[in-house]
Amino acid sequence: MPPQRAIIFSDFDGTIAKIDVGDLMYDVFSDGSYVWPDADWIAGKVSSKQCYLDQCASTRAEPEELDAFLDAQELDPGFPPFVEHCRRSGYPVYVLSDGMDYYINRLFRRYGLEELPVFSNHLEVADGRLVPSFPYFADTCGRCANCKGPHVRRHAQPDDFVIYLGDGWSDPCGAQYADAIFAKGGLQKWCEQNGRAYYPLTGFEQVLKFVEQLESDGVLAGAAPGPLGDATT
Ligand SMILES: [Mg+2]
Ligand SMILES: [Zn+2]
Repeated sequence: MPPQRAIIFSDFDGTIAKIDVGDLMYDVFSDGSYVWPDADWIAGKVSSKQCYLDQCASTRAEPEELDAFLDAQELDPGFPPFVEHCRRSGYPVYVLSDGMDYYINRLFRRYGLEELPVFSNHLEVADGRLVPSFPYFADTCGRCANCKGPHVRRHAQPDDFVIYLGDGWSDPCGAQYADAIFAKGGLQKWCEQNGRAYYPLTGFEQVLKFVEQLESDGVLAGAAPGPLGDATT
């Protein structure tokens, strides 16, 4: 089998971002009256679209205070070097989130990563209110507002080596198609319950080492060889 192209799909909250930025945002700015129904949501009895509509209705924030909060949040320091390696090697990186573009885009701009393709729900802040919308809800599995499965199926080619990273219960929908899963939290539990092999996710430095190992093993194509070193006679 010739060396494959890697394609990477990653969750944002708690995976690319060090913590769950969305969860913390609601903790900080909501009036506390809404409690996410974890058990019913994991069981697929309620979709995250309804949860977000209710959660946002109990949340108030002015853009300036929201942005100040977001500017204190951090990405995994291993993520930018990982993205750079993927860029040089021609591996697409897609960010799949059942959270909101508002904070993902703001953090990516701060890190100079605004060119990364992001598929998420949409959030507007208007008159102190959080107004969510759900551009990908038509493809839902019933639980997700933005189901990750259709995004993976749409972008991965049959010969790609698919790498998936995540930490939550919205991640199995995408991770089920992966050749290699890096998991913690809810995704790790799902892997264990369903007998799926996974690597316990520690961060993107670990995933970069994994990719480099597959390149030296000839499984992944890696960067195309440059002109240096070519024979000139
Ligand atoms: Mg997450
Ligand atoms: Zn789903």
